[in-house]
Amino acid sequence: MGILVIAAAMAGIFFVCARLAGGDREAGTVVIERDGKEIARFPLREDRTVRLPETAAEGYNVLEIAGGRVRVAEADCPEQICVQQGWISRFGEQIVCLPHRLVIRLAGKDSGEMDAVAAADADGPARREPL
Ligand SMILES: [Zn+2]
Repeated sequence: MGILVIAAAMAGIFFVCARLAGGDREAGTVVIERDGKEIARFPLREDRTVRLPETAAEGYNVLEIAGGRVRVAEADCPEQICVQQGWISRFGEQIVCLPHRLVIRLAGKDSGEMDAVAAADADGPARREPL
């Protein structure tokens, strides 16, 4: 009897672990972070090319979103590692550009699609309305 209970419990644990690791979440949002702070996000299903701000300190990265995937199409960082990473399309995947302190990662569909598209412009928070 005890063995049955243990077997059932183990099956349950196994099932839960498989669910957690199983990546059944679908990527739906491209989130762009610089210095660990989100600067922009875009829906993955809308094709577009985004040029991230070019400044003397940070250089630029050109993001290409197409067919439910995203990549860095072009950048002026020395190693070009972000460009060489190619396309990502799955939830949790990310592209990192270390010289530019930039992270492009794929978040789930449900994580807020309503905001922040305008933040990709170079103008930054200085343009915000005072509260
Ligand atoms: Zn790079």
